[in-house]
Amino acid sequence: MKFSDFNFSEPLMQGLDAIGFEKPTAIQEQAIPQVLNKKDIIGCAQTGTGKTAAFLLPVIEDILRHGHVGLAALVIVPTRELAIQIDQQVEGLGYFTGVTSLAIYGGKDGVSFGQEKQALTEGADIVIATPGRLIAHLNLGYVNLGKLRFLILDEADRMLDMGFSEDIEMIVGYLPEKRNTLLFSATMPPKIRKLAKALLNDPEEINIALSKPAEGVVQAAFLVYEAQKLGLMVHLLKARPLTSVIIFCSTRKSVTVLERGLKKEGIKVGAISSDLDQQHREEVMIQFKNAELHVLVATNIVARGIDIVGVELVVNYDVPRDAEEYVHRIGRTARADATGIAFTFISEEEQRDFHDIEQLIGMEIKKIKAPSHLGPSPDYNPQKRSARKPQHFRKQRGKR
Ligand code: ADP
Ligand code: MG
Repeated sequence: MKFSDFNFSEPLMQGLDAIGFEKPTAIQEQAIPQVLNKKDIIGCAQTGTGKTAAFLLPVIEDILRHGHVGLAALVIVPTRELAIQIDQQVEGLGYFTGVTSLAIYGGKDGVSFGQEKQALTEGADIVIATPGRLIAHLNLGYVNLGKLRFLILDEADRMLDMGFSEDIEMIVGYLPEKRNTLLFSATMPPKIRKLAKALLNDPEEINIALSKPAEGVVQAAFLVYEAQKLGLMVHLLKARPLTSVIIFCSTRKSVTVLERGLKKEGIKVGAISSDLDQQHREEVMIQFKNAELHVLVATNIVARGIDIVGVELVVNYDVPRDAEEYVHRIGRTARADATGIAFTFISEEEQRDFHDIEQLIGMEIKKIKAPSHLGPSPDYNPQKRSARKPQHFRKQRGKR
């Protein structure tokens, strides 16, 4: 599925392009058409699955279609950090649309309270608010909610855990009854169902379950410095007579470099990335299936569509960007009842990301140091996060 399948307006498509989203995530694919059709939804999906854009995109589109009429959408979130993050995503996705938004949260000075008041009375299109601060404004009586069409509760489970349920009830009391309500949550405990029942009207429930790695896959991870990855790859390929190996890289550039490096070592390797034309890619695939090529190096994007049985070894040359991608990649080996091996190369900078993946798939994967002839390798210390970008930018690194 592509974003263009949703018939979004041109300025919104430009925003998607600018922000670098190429295709919708699973929750976006399912939620967007429902919201555009004015259905209430409960969206349950793990952190990092793209829930923000799942509601922002159809809401921005709806505002574009309706024109600016005042406050159209209210997003309630548990923390100020999340409010700011969502506000930034409106700015990115809505950059070319003229849709305006404002984050409203506690702990700011009187000047900002005045600015918030102005936005709430003169009508920003989208307001993202923490409950307490919003109630402070609502109690003063100037917030114009007459044109509100969307109420979105994001991270609903966390809001209830933080004791916001009465606040939410109070806020909802101010809102028009005829509206769309969208509830997003990473988990679905009974109290969330109760809340949904009280606030939503015949909701469509969307559940994106994260699949677990297949049973037959033996998983291990190597702790290496970035510069040791090629040497380790050569070592592993020469240690056993393997004839069906797929190596995933995160960027087209590393595909090219790795292919060249392996060829130099006399390994029968082919590569597919979006740099190559379709015909060339198909030829490489056929050669790989026929075992004329023993090793295939690929970017994830290209690898999505391939279906090859009996891959003996899958290597994540870079740590995949999220758990779903990890599970998907290693699912290339050990299909059906067969067994297979999946190795992941983890550089120092990638340790924390890999740790996050382990949390999500609920498995701890064995860590192995690189063989000594490659020199000393890094210690394992995933809690150490070197000067990194904030969470919401992490998934966009590299050109895929
Ligand atoms: P969630 O709310 O489910 O935890 P987010 O909405 O915060 O997830 O999105 C997680 C990350 O994925 C963000 O960095 C976001 O920019 C990115 N992202 C979301 N949708 C897409 C997409 N369609 N393509 C690429 N990246 C995306
Ligand atoms: Mg979220």
